[in-house]
Amino acid sequence: MCDSCLPPPPAARLMRPNRRHLLALGLGGVVLGAPLRAFAEGGAPEAAALTGDECAPFNAGMQAVMTPDEAVERLIAGHQRFQAGASLQCDLRAEALATAEKQTPFACILSCIDSRVAPELIFNQQIGDIFCARVAGNVPTTEIVGSFEYATKVAGAKAIMVLGHSHCGAVKGAIDEAEVGDNLTDLLRLMEPAIQVTPLEGERSSHNHPFVEAVAQANVRVGVQTLLMMSAVIRELVEAGELRLVGAYYDIDTLELRLLETGT
Ligand SMILES: [Zn+2]
Repeated sequence: MCDSCLPPPPAARLMRPNRRHLLALGLGGVVLGAPLRAFAEGGAPEAAALTGDECAPFNAGMQAVMTPDEAVERLIAGHQRFQAGASLQCDLRAEALATAEKQTPFACILSCIDSRVAPELIFNQQIGDIFCARVAGNVPTTEIVGSFEYATKVAGAKAIMVLGHSHCGAVKGAIDEAEVGDNLTDLLRLMEPAIQVTPLEGERSSHNHPFVEAVAQANVRVGVQTLLMMSAVIRELVEAGELRLVGAYYDIDTLELRLLETGT
């Protein structure tokens, strides 16, 4: 081999080019159209695609073999890529076209509307991967619970994550008993149960930082239990081992994600 020649790629990669390699060569948009369609049609899942370590629309074949635990692990793996600055940069246009006829997401996330906590970004998921419901303070409402009943029972998602976060303005407003119009005031009151179950040291104030963070975490736990209480559909899926319901807390200072003990 000449000194200036590039070393040959490993045999496996010669046989089936990795999507990232093709993208690096500027071939992703052209060469990957067919494989993407194959995934969308339910082709046999590959390990890396199942865990989300490679760009590929999540399809029915992958959803069929994924366990609820694996669904949570895929979310965590995606967050780890984001936290490490190693998020996959997938061809979203190709994925949108590949999933146009059918979507089979693997998980649902209930998150706050906070602009710093966009689930698809901080979990590095792509088009067709996850259902997201967002509302200030990530509280389950009837409409959100109904949406997740569709996402799980009908569309087959294997996990639901209730995601809280640090420095949550909605939690702060609830603690301060802010009153801003009928709708926002009613929404903030939905967090009162989380405030009531949180031990208070010092004053009840949004300036009491440890209390704000503790309430935000309690609000996740209350949210998980509320989902279970409100929905027989979700409860039965969890009891049957077909769905995992988890609570998580995202620190916007450190980008760390922590699963919370929620009693599920
Ligand atoms: Zn928030």
